[in-house]
Amino acid sequence: MTADSTAAPSTDSGTNATASTFHSAGPARSGMDADALQRDIVDNLICLQARYPAIATPHDWYMALAYSVRDRMLERWVATVQTHAAREVRLACYLSAEFLIGPQLGNNLVSLGIEANARAAMQALGQDFDSILAQEEEPGLGNGGLGRLAACYLDSLAALEIPAIGYGIRYEFGIFDQEIRDAWQVEVTDKWLQMGNPWEIVRPDVAFYVAFGGHTESTTDAQGRLQVRWVAANKVKGVAYDIPVAGFHVNTCNTLRLWKSEAVESFDLQDFNAGDYYQAVQDKVISETLSKVLYPNDEPEAGKRLRLAQQYFFVSCSLQDMLRLLDLKGEPTERFADMFAAQLNDTHPSIAVAELMRLLVDERQVPWDEAWDITRRSLAYTNHTLLPEALETWGLPLFRNLLPRLLEIIYEINRRFIDEVRQRYGGDEARVARMSLIDERGDKRVRMAHLATVGSHAVNGVAALHSALLKQTVMRDFAEMWPERFFNVTNGVTPRRFMLLCNPQLARLLDETVGKDWITDPTQLRGLEAHADDAAFQERWRRVKLSNKEALTARIHSATGIVVDPGALFDIQVKRIHEYKRQHLNALFIIGLYQRLRNNPQLTLAPRCFVFGGKAAPGYAMAKLIIRLINGVAEVVNNDPLVSDRLKVVFFPDFNVKNAHFIYPAADLSEQISTAGKEASGTGNMKFMMNGALTIGTLDGANVEIREQVGEENFFLFGLSADQVEQVKRDGYRPADYANGNAELREVLKLIADGQFSRGDREMFRPLVESLLQFDPFLVLADYADYVACQERVSAAWQDVRHWTHMSILNTARAGKFSSDRAISEYCSQIWNIRPVRIDLEQR
Ligand SMILES: *Cc1c(COP(=O)(O)O)cnc(C)c1O
Repeated sequence: MTADSTAAPSTDSGTNATASTFHSAGPARSGMDADALQRDIVDNLICLQARYPAIATPHDWYMALAYSVRDRMLERWVATVQTHAAREVRLACYLSAEFLIGPQLGNNLVSLGIEANARAAMQALGQDFDSILAQEEEPGLGNGGLGRLAACYLDSLAALEIPAIGYGIRYEFGIFDQEIRDAWQVEVTDKWLQMGNPWEIVRPDVAFYVAFGGHTESTTDAQGRLQVRWVAANKVKGVAYDIPVAGFHVNTCNTLRLWKSEAVESFDLQDFNAGDYYQAVQDKVISETLSKVLYPNDEPEAGKRLRLAQQYFFVSCSLQDMLRLLDLKGEPTERFADMFAAQLNDTHPSIAVAELMRLLVDERQVPWDEAWDITRRSLAYTNHTLLPEALETWGLPLFRNLLPRLLEIIYEINRRFIDEVRQRYGGDEARVARMSLIDERGDKRVRMAHLATVGSHAVNGVAALHSALLKQTVMRDFAEMWPERFFNVTNGVTPRRFMLLCNPQLARLLDETVGKDWITDPTQLRGLEAHADDAAFQERWRRVKLSNKEALTARIHSATGIVVDPGALFDIQVKRIHEYKRQHLNALFIIGLYQRLRNNPQLTLAPRCFVFGGKAAPGYAMAKLIIRLINGVAEVVNNDPLVSDRLKVVFFPDFNVKNAHFIYPAADLSEQISTAGKEASGTGNMKFMMNGALTIGTLDGANVEIREQVGEENFFLFGLSADQVEQVKRDGYRPADYANGNAELREVLKLIADGQFSRGDREMFRPLVESLLQFDPFLVLADYADYVACQERVSAAWQDVRHWTHMSILNTARAGKFSSDRAISEYCSQIWNIRPVRIDLEQR
């Protein structure tokens, strides 16, 4: 393939002046030393920001530095795209509705290995490097763990030199910014694009049309084959916006391609009644709305039309783009599955099964059976949840109205699939009904997880326990029918961002202790074990932790006004707020502890600082009430002179990747206390572990494997197992019995009900207390006593500084398994069959 426009940034494009335009001779804008950087930063400041240094704002400096760094990625980016295009390579296509990529500048400097030089250059320009970095608005293109996982995987794909592309949506408004006002969460629109995004390059020439609504018409072609034409009511244009993803210290620079929706020019006035100008404008508005806003998850009322439209929009653009790349390579359609491995990150992109069939059968006249074989061989599906309420389904009327042709295709897939089930399990109609792609009970719905499973060659869960439960519960019938299709790939996180970038002091200590290779080969971290009891090393280890806690202390103060003691045990729970994650269990424990201190002021307790962070879905009233409770407890505890030297409670607002950089490295204790069987994997647990926090947790998700790796003696385990949770529920769980049988718990619930943490308001927390006493769907009360007992063990262990430090060191030493490099290697070998491709930079 020749130098096409696929993902290679064209530096001579007038629409996207990447400052290289201004230089004609020499290897411009590629010098990695501080002097070259300094010169180009000033150049970009003037030529792109139109500012002289004397009047430049910190944001101008950020933009100038960001463009200078991007310039240095371009050569690698072009070379990568061209190499992948020219070679016989299979491309990993990661389809995800979310990519929570976090701030780009610091990470790109780390990948290029020019962080120190950039710091020196900015210093020479009289700028404070860290505050310039802090200018970056984070792209909030995800809700939490699932979106962050996709971002970690992009980082590892590039670091491992895997030919890959990420496909997603360029939301104009990402996840809302969270503010705390009057102890409640308030959602504020995330205007991340307001000041411009220096990392993206728009490709107006890489654009596709996506159809919506209307009806289908059948005809018979010259060969007597059935041909279906979808007469759409509306079409939307998807335009590619590309973000480079540089691999750590390699030449590979992959692409994250995000689709923005635009109205189709002149389509409206042609195809609608001429003269209906206002209708045309209205349709334009709808088209431009498609990629406007990211949906917060955990919303009770799912099934939003716009959400399904978003999913179809980005999936259709992505698959059309893959077919375009295939054509550019000169490969026939039949080779699609040899050239692409598409991974579906949860069911959000699962419409890909039907859309790929449509593109192959309707638009490329591939016979159904052959198209089905191509589809199945190219797609694979990652399941992320066992919570039945989180499994996506769409009502038939909505589906038919929005995507009539896709529904016909799903019916045909289902007809053939059900034949297969009937053949295999003759007469078992109950099984047929359970497995069908259409849920026929009540108002009929399309089951997207079933569609994804039937249309994929591989289905995987995201931690060993989750993958096992998947086969026993929601996917049981499928796992019986096709056991060979089911896999586990335990999640991972990138050690570049979550160690090297966010904890540079730890990184330096690791470099000195086990050598620099740990960053790409984290099994090297095992070398720390030999130092775990070395007093001098322990002292250095503690100094790093203390320094990180001091940094967080300063941020807590500026964000909340609360003064905390960096010498206290930092006990941290940061993640989305959800009942299954049980932030309220933690809050109940704190209230109980507070009561014990009040009743017995002489009680010795090492100072503890409880830090919470996380967003609640705007429509999830109980989660917002839990935030209110935490802030209510903080208000009371922090202002009570009797305990405030020993106990502090902080709700850190707006937990996002940027804030996470300061939070994970500062933790002594990581709270991973979800009801067993509910957290698919968790990845926050891994970030804490890597940074030397000890875990208090249940046997849930990847906690199980964390405990296996670190050793049970270095993990604070409590609570019912997944099996026991099910047993308790089967036996008829009566939460009130647990309250009645535990005086402290009873007292805690009474304090909440009495308005102690709601400024005297006895109504505010009634829904929370009543839900706990009457239903308690996540067994908070059942696990309370054991959690308290386990926290006692934590307090005791914290007293022994040397032993605590020993355990902390072992947590980092044994965290290697949880690098996303390991996870991506498993996807490559077990599911995608893709190997690394070395990128050579061409001689100019
Ligand atoms: C890692 C991460 C998460 C996921 O946290 P869990 O504890 O696994 O739920 C969510 N949000 C952000 C910003 C993260 O970095």
